[in-house]
Amino acid sequence: MSDYKLLIGGRLVPGAMTLNVINPATEGVLAMAPRADCAQLEEAVAAAKAAFPAWSATPIRERGALLARLADAMEARQGEFARLLTEEQGKPLAAAMHEMDAAIARIRYFATLDLLPRVLREDATRRIVQERMPLGVVAAITPWNVPVLLLAQKIAPALLAGNTVVAKPAPTTPLTTLKVGELCAQILPPGVINIIVDQNDLGGALTSHPDVAKVTFTGSTATGKKVMESVVSTLKRLTLELGGNDAAIVLDDVDPKEVAPKLLAGALFNCGQGCIAIKRLYVHESQYDEICDELGRLARKIIIDDGLKQGTQMGPLQNKAQFEKVKDFLKSASESGKIIAGGNALPRKGYFIQPTIVRDIDDDARLVKEEQFGPILPVLRYSDVDDAIARANDTDYGLGGSVWSNDLARAAAVAAKVVSGTVWINQHLDMHPDIPFRGAKQSGIGTEQGQEGLEEYTQARIVNMAKARA
Ligand code: NAD
Repeated sequence: MSDYKLLIGGRLVPGAMTLNVINPATEGVLAMAPRADCAQLEEAVAAAKAAFPAWSATPIRERGALLARLADAMEARQGEFARLLTEEQGKPLAAAMHEMDAAIARIRYFATLDLLPRVLREDATRRIVQERMPLGVVAAITPWNVPVLLLAQKIAPALLAGNTVVAKPAPTTPLTTLKVGELCAQILPPGVINIIVDQNDLGGALTSHPDVAKVTFTGSTATGKKVMESVVSTLKRLTLELGGNDAAIVLDDVDPKEVAPKLLAGALFNCGQGCIAIKRLYVHESQYDEICDELGRLARKIIIDDGLKQGTQMGPLQNKAQFEKVKDFLKSASESGKIIAGGNALPRKGYFIQPTIVRDIDDDARLVKEEQFGPILPVLRYSDVDDAIARANDTDYGLGGSVWSNDLARAAAVAAKVVSGTVWINQHLDMHPDIPFRGAKQSGIGTEQGQEGLEEYTQARIVNMAKARA
C-alpha cells in the first residue's frame, strides 16, 4: 500500500495499481505511488465536469481567496515539501526551497488577478463589451524537472479563471504533486482539482477526452506534438511549453572572469535539466581560450552529491532514462569535441554526471543540435557576430536565449535578432510570475504567466448590446 493517494472528486483514494518512485541520488525506492487506471481517469474527469458549474459561478475573489489559502498551506509545510522534492527530483535542498518559494509566489500572484470585462465601444446606439468565460475541465500535464513550480503555474490561473482541473505529474516525480493534492482536498470544493498518476500511459486518454476543454502541457517537443494531434478531433484549446536549445552569445568585450560563473550557472541550473538552461555557448575567438579555461576551472570545483547533504551544489539527473541519454551525449561529445572538464558519470550509486565543458566542437555535433538536458555545455567559437546569430537561430527550438556584453546598446542590437520567446541581456533564466513566458518555433504554442497567461484559460466572448428598445 502506498502512503500517497490520488485526489478524485474531493476524496484521497488509493490507485488501482502502484508504481515505485526512485530516489535518483541512491537508486533506492523512495516510495510507492498510487497509479490510476482508465476507470479512475474517467472518474477524475467526471468529477471535474460535475464541479464546474458551481466553481465557475463562485465569485472570482472567493476563488482567489481559496488559492491564497493553498499558498499559505504550502508555505506552512515548505520544509517538508522541499525535502520530498529533493528526494524525488534530485536537486539540492536549497534549490528545492527556491522552487517552493517560486511555486508559492505563482499561486499568490494569480490569486490577486482579475478578469474584468473590457468595453470595446460605447456610443449612443450600442455598447460592446468583451468578457472572459472559463472553458470547463482543464488537463494539466507536467514534466519531472520542476514539478511543483510547473504544477502551480498551471493550476493557479486555471482555477482562478473558474475552470476545474485534472492534473497529471510525470511518473518519476509524482509525490510532491500528490502532497499538494492533500492540501487541495482540505481547501478546495470536491472535484475542483483532481490529481491522477500514470506510468506514461494515460496522457493520450486524458488529452483526447471529449469532456476536457483545454490541455496545458509542459514537456518535450516530441510529446507535445502527440498532444497536439490528440486534441484535433475536438479542437480543444491548447498551451504547449516544450523543449529548448537556448544559445548564449558572448560578445568580445566581456570580462571572462566575471562572465564565466554567470554562464556556467545558466547552463548547470537544475543539473542542466531546465527548458531554459543555456545549452549552447557562442564565444568570440579573441576570448575563446580564456573563457573555456575559466569555465573548465569552475566546473571542476562544483560539489556533486546527494541533494540532502549540506554543501551539495549539484545533484543527480532525475531518472535513469535521462542518465543513459546524457551518457550517450558524453560519448558523442568526446568524439566530436574536446572535453576539458568532467566527461564521466560518477562511479557510485545514483544518476550523477560530472559538470562537463566541451570545446572545439562543430555546429553539426549532436550535443549542439539536440537538447541535452544535462550538465554538459558545448562552447563554440565565432569570429563574426552575424554568423554567431545565424548559427544560434539555426534550430527548430526558440524558447530562450541571451546576449552578454559590457555595451548594452550593442547587446540589445544583437538580442533583437535572436528568434525566441525570451531573450535576456547579461543574464539568463530570470523569470517572474507577472512576465509572460512562451516559446517560439517548436518550443511551444501559447503563453503562461502574467495576465496573458491567465486569459489562456478563458474563452473571450463579445456582448454587443443595441441601446434601442427591442
Ligand atoms: P515528456 O514529454 O516525456 O513528459 C512530460 C509529461 O507528459 C509527463 O507527465 C508524461 O507522463 C506526459 N506524457 C507522456 N506521454 C504523453 C502523451 N502521449 N500524451 C500526453 N502526455 C504524455 O517530458 P519530460 O521528459 O518529462 O520533460 C523534459 C522536457 O520538458 C524537456 O524537453 C524540457 O525542455 C521540457 N520542458 C519545457 C518547459 C517549458 O516551459 N517550455 C519547462 C520544463 C520542461
